[in-house]
Amino acid sequence: MSRIRNNVDLIVGALLLGSALWLVGARHAAQPGHAHAATQTSKLILPGQTAMVDLTYAFDERTVYWPTAQAFRWEKESWGVAAGGYWYTAARYAASEHGGTHLDSPIHFGQGKTTVDEISLERLMGPAVVLDIRDACAQDRDYQLQVEDIARWEKQHGGIPAGSIVLVHTGWGKFWPELKAYLGDDTPGETKNLHFPGISPEAAEFLVTQRGIDGVGIDTASLDHGPSREFRAHQIFGGANVYGLENVAQLDKLPPTGAMLLALPMKIKGGTGAPVRIVAFLP
Ligand SMILES: [Zn+2]
Repeated sequence: MSRIRNNVDLIVGALLLGSALWLVGARHAAQPGHAHAATQTSKLILPGQTAMVDLTYAFDERTVYWPTAQAFRWEKESWGVAAGGYWYTAARYAASEHGGTHLDSPIHFGQGKTTVDEISLERLMGPAVVLDIRDACAQDRDYQLQVEDIARWEKQHGGIPAGSIVLVHTGWGKFWPELKAYLGDDTPGETKNLHFPGISPEAAEFLVTQRGIDGVGIDTASLDHGPSREFRAHQIFGGANVYGLENVAQLDKLPPTGAMLLALPMKIKGGTGAPVRIVAFLP
């Protein structure tokens, strides 16, 4: 309940501050035992001035995938004037789930946890908290977000609200989609020499147990840093039913606090992950 109350506070706060974004209906749908919960729709009411940032990379043949995954394939099936005299185009695509801007469902590293189609809409929207660790990552490309980084942020901006979507800003977006710079290695199928920043197990544990966040995202290929062999951050977040967002674009366009996030993954039944369109609504 505290999470729901927190959301209510947040919505009321946003209204008082004259924020352009109103979230309506989410509380209603979240009420346990509501007879029509399944058919309730959550609405985003967006007056004209709301600035939006697209945190999603377009998918093409250069999109970064995990080295062992199948890259994005897109082929034209029909392209031009059809026999009937009208213009007609259609194409087909195929790819692994984990590549490009995508969502990691808790089942990816959490046995028996939520699949991508089962994540509630309420959890896929929420206040965005942006933790900037660019300086540390520029010094050490294997840097991991520390609990102290979170403490420093909270001292300046206040506690991370429950139900937040925490975004870790490493500055790695400037390397996209240059494989060698972005992943640390461009050898096909090889994961032994990867070097990029991530989230420490301690920070993951803190965000899950002490802050009750709904989701976590990062502007690198993985929640865990490149040298990781056990993917502890993935295990901790997945085990707590917290989803992940990877290869998040344009984090330099977001304020540390105040933006609202909407992250809608392709609804693959039973999916362990999926391409996701992430939109930030600026305060
Ligand atoms: Zn993934």
